[in-house]
Amino acid sequence: MDLVIRNASLADGASGIDIAIEGERIAAVGPRLEVAGALEIDAGGDLVSAPFVDAHFHMDATLSYGLPRVNQSGTLLEGIALWGELKPQLVQEALIERAMQYCDWAVARGLLAIRSHVDICDDSLLAVEALLEVRRRVAPYIDLQLVAFPQDGLLRSPTAFTNLKRAIAMGVDVVGGIPHFERTMADGAASVKLLCEFAAEQGLRVDMHCDESDDPLSRHIETLAAETLRLGMQGRVAGSHLTSMHSMDNYYVSKLLPLIAESGVAAIANPLINITLQGRHDSYPKRRGMTRVPELMAAGVDVAFGHDCVMDPWYGLGSGDMLEVAHMGLHVAQMTGQEAMRRCYDAVTTTPARILGLEGYGIAPGCQADLVLLDAASPVEAIRLRAARRLVLRRGRVVSEAPSQAATLTLPGRPQRVDFRLGRRTE
Ligand SMILES: [Zn+2]
Repeated sequence: MDLVIRNASLADGASGIDIAIEGERIAAVGPRLEVAGALEIDAGGDLVSAPFVDAHFHMDATLSYGLPRVNQSGTLLEGIALWGELKPQLVQEALIERAMQYCDWAVARGLLAIRSHVDICDDSLLAVEALLEVRRRVAPYIDLQLVAFPQDGLLRSPTAFTNLKRAIAMGVDVVGGIPHFERTMADGAASVKLLCEFAAEQGLRVDMHCDESDDPLSRHIETLAAETLRLGMQGRVAGSHLTSMHSMDNYYVSKLLPLIAESGVAAIANPLINITLQGRHDSYPKRRGMTRVPELMAAGVDVAFGHDCVMDPWYGLGSGDMLEVAHMGLHVAQMTGQEAMRRCYDAVTTTPARILGLEGYGIAPGCQADLVLLDAASPVEAIRLRAARRLVLRRGRVVSEAPSQAATLTLPGRPQRVDFRLGRRTE
């Protein structure tokens, strides 16, 4: 074997597991494998996980914070207006450079698959060309999936549908949309139909910004689910944000949840951004605005957490850390039970991998040797500590290394080493 990782804990709770890697794939997984590796790594009982996956991001806007000015109100709508001011000033090389820098951060965080929306409303499709180039450059270490996103509205922006089709022809992977931003509810529903029909005809996946609003009557998710069923696209469609569900009438939701489950539409919540942008018209009490995550999960719907924004017109923080995203999601959804916290870890790993349709994702023989060794014993501890990614492997090769977060103390009568982990032996 090229590499054997010894004594790992896995996200499913197994411990004392060895992982043998041959070439770019995992060859064997089990307790005390009787194989020798050219290289052996002792995980020391720590968590070895499949890599983090971000199901919802905007790589064309990332790291542009403050360009040309910061978002004063902090609202979604000022962010969209600000992005509109920035767009004509975008230069392809600078956009590529910012995206490449973000991808470096992502790798260091063990984030090796990202679905990024790319705005197609600018007729030059400069951002599309730039992100196609970024996708090509990072392919050896990140699976970058691109969504053709009509930020200014498919029907509201006169050239959006033409541009969206051009972007798909250029190689963009997924069909996007923004029905709640169209002029009317009827236009929103019409845009969902048009986009789903186009995607079905092209054999593509769909991922729409859907009902990113506090308006309880924003019900485009209903149309998205119904169209998915009508066109037989179960398992290939996602609704991103779905924040209006937070404010909907409970009786209506009791009908909606089974419809979403039946349609196989996945839900992608974006906790950092939803808790920041929603409820802005409220005084007090102020709504959280994130979609109904535990209820969707209980209904059998795939729910992922996305990062959405890092240092862009909508959000001035973030560093590509999906554990920070899971941490916020867990708090906003009040998913504090042990099993619930583990499901929040799944929401930044296995669930988005399924939504993206990643090939060979996981820790099993035959899977890609893409792995992260965390400075934590379990998914819950990883979330609690936003644990250091001690090693990140892509296709069997180490692509990032980081020290643990232990610190050295100089306090009289206290241990020198403090590492924030309970129950680990200290020397
Ligand atoms: Zn978004």
